[in-house]
Amino acid sequence: MRFSDRKALLPRDIGLILSYRCPSACAHCLYNCGAGWHDWMTADQVQLALENARTAWGPGFQVHLTGGEPFLNYPLLLEATRIASDLNIPVYVETSASWCRDRDKAEDRFCQLREAGMDAVLVSVSPFHQEAIPLRRTLDGISAARTAFGQDRVMIYQSQWLTELSQRGMDAGVPLEDYTEAYGKVQAGIRLWKGYGLISGGRAGYQLGNLVSKSPPESFSHLDCREELLFAHHSHLDLYGHYIPAFCGGISLGDWHTLQQLFESARSDSLQPLVKALIHGGPYQLYKLAAKKTGYQCLAKGYAGKCHLCVDSRKALVAAGIFPDSLQPEQFYQSF
Ligand code: SF4
Ligand code: SF4
Repeated sequence: MRFSDRKALLPRDIGLILSYRCPSACAHCLYNCGAGWHDWMTADQVQLALENARTAWGPGFQVHLTGGEPFLNYPLLLEATRIASDLNIPVYVETSASWCRDRDKAEDRFCQLREAGMDAVLVSVSPFHQEAIPLRRTLDGISAARTAFGQDRVMIYQSQWLTELSQRGMDAGVPLEDYTEAYGKVQAGIRLWKGYGLISGGRAGYQLGNLVSKSPPESFSHLDCREELLFAHHSHLDLYGHYIPAFCGGISLGDWHTLQQLFESARSDSLQPLVKALIHGGPYQLYKLAAKKTGYQCLAKGYAGKCHLCVDSRKALVAAGIFPDSLQPEQFYQSF
């Protein structure tokens, strides 16, 4: 089947993953970010990625500078902002504000970013972030960003948690066990999974899967991943050259240095075998493949969602050295 009826790989919101390094290592992180990652994109790579994106996609897309935590390398963040702005690409930054220990310094940084051409700021807020990041830092970050950018250009993702988070504490991390103690396991699971709209990929299935009922592989057999892999509005280009579709941490569609080639492969249904298996048969097909090629056995307790099945099957394939081009970056699979 060809996909010429709809344009594949036409994201409108493109994240540049400047690094997977992040001090928070949240339980729900889809990209398995944490302190164990050390590499960063260079300014030259940012320039090249954005020029390639502009050539491939023309105008009409926006870029978010992300990670990991992009403020851990503030000079690069500032330079990347200038590069995007010089190319007339709308740009915003995603941050957890974990770095925001001094509100005035934070305001200076946001003002510099605005001067460099940054258009907006997104601050992440959730119970998962609050495990590692005292809420006061997040609120200081929001306040500093609003002073620099104005209320309308600061997005809080997800603002509905702010009231509850402030009741749980301002100056220290709050463990997720507080939710199970307060609501009981079932209600806490509903609040955290449904309330946030968690995706079970990355660490979430492993670290938060105990809060939801799990299902065997067969229950996902009717689901494919065509939309996520080919038609995602939101995708990422990372520092290692990988095109990471949608929120599928650990899957590389190919090399963003050769985007035209990637588009051709997508449109003629000739992407890498692992990606094709997911497009047509979803994680259940991947599970069958992992079972056949590696002897993978399904988790006795089942899976928290289709992405949990996908990630766990991929771990077995990685351990057996199968599909190394698509199962990237490598360190993703050592960072659960
Ligand atoms: S979700 Fe965000 S803040 Fe948390 S570990 Fe991942 S990148 Fe860091
Ligand atoms: S099952 Fe795998 S390929 Fe499909 S959306 Fe989830 S992580 Fe992506």
